[in-house]
Amino acid sequence: MIPVNEPLLDGNEKKYLAECIDSGWISSEGPFVERFEREFAARVGRKHAVAVCNGSLALDAAVAALDLGPGDEVILPSFTIISCATAIVRAGATPVVVDCDAETWNMVVDQVAARITPRTKALMVVHLYGLPCDMGPLLALAQRHGLKLIEDAAEMHGQTWQGRPCGSFGDISTFSFYPNKHITTGEGGMLVMDDDALAARCRRLRNLAFAPPRRFVHEELGWNLRMSNLQAALGCAQLERLDEFVARKRAMGARYTALLAGTPGLQLPLARTADADSIYWVYGLVLADEVPFDADEAMRRLAARGVGCRPFFWPMHEQPVFLRMGLFHGEQLPVAERLGRRGFYIPSGMALTPAQMATVAAAVKDLMA
Ligand SMILES: *Cc1c(COP(=O)(O)O)cnc(C)c1O
Repeated sequence: MIPVNEPLLDGNEKKYLAECIDSGWISSEGPFVERFEREFAARVGRKHAVAVCNGSLALDAAVAALDLGPGDEVILPSFTIISCATAIVRAGATPVVVDCDAETWNMVVDQVAARITPRTKALMVVHLYGLPCDMGPLLALAQRHGLKLIEDAAEMHGQTWQGRPCGSFGDISTFSFYPNKHITTGEGGMLVMDDDALAARCRRLRNLAFAPPRRFVHEELGWNLRMSNLQAALGCAQLERLDEFVARKRAMGARYTALLAGTPGLQLPLARTADADSIYWVYGLVLADEVPFDADEAMRRLAARGVGCRPFFWPMHEQPVFLRMGLFHGEQLPVAERLGRRGFYIPSGMALTPAQMATVAAAVKDLMA
């Protein structure tokens, strides 16, 4: 079986992990956490970085730190991971969804403008699959309407929009270090920001809202979102190789596209927009409408050929859990609905070899023949 994802851990990962074990520093108090935060903030061009235990809870902390809650509407793409909507709903705020573009798979900016109401308090911008969202109009909308901006850059390590780093745009921007992201800590996440007070708030929320003057006396509710020194050690080693990893993913994307170009019934990922070249978080495929099977069937057939695949996200407005909560009734967002049913991705991990890619491409072409 060719796995859908396999990370590369052959840099300084072992050395830094051994330092943790030899020194006894394995908890969040160890020195790699601060080092990872400092180096990550510098890389994204932000003043602060706050390391957390995963990219999903980074979004919860961002929503809480920006004081979003009951009565507040937050606009986000329907086509995304559920973590985005969960963070909003758990805070008691209302998620308002927009459709995505059929080519870039990112949120449609025109629809964002149309959904702004007096109750809109924030935009949650999510860059998906390798290309950044159209930040120009999104930043202009946020400014014009006085909206907070949360930027989910979980899939965008090393990506830029018009030369500016993804993760540099939000009041708070978040990252994930799950193993299918460009750099990984096994599990892990990061919040980045420039505002000193927001950074302090995120640090407090990360650590059970412990605060002076008396430890164990609390003024607000936080979480334990702390990242361990072991995870941060991996993060430091991975971050050293980010440029190499981005180049590697771009080369993989170009190779897959060369192998698969012209295959009937198959939409390949867009290589670039005017604002950025894709960094191919994963290599996604979308089945044309005339193809007589859907993504689930395609993945079954490819699995039988030893090719591991994963489906695309499923739209938020079609999630049973949210519909049961009374959210999104009557919402129709045709592009997100179509991508959820007809999109999937093929093996895309950092450790994938050219020979494996050739095997995968041959299986995909047979599937479509
Ligand atoms: C992976 C991902 C997350 C969640 O990150 P975890 O670390 O797995 O919790 C959030 N948003 C997007 C867009 C992602 O791709």
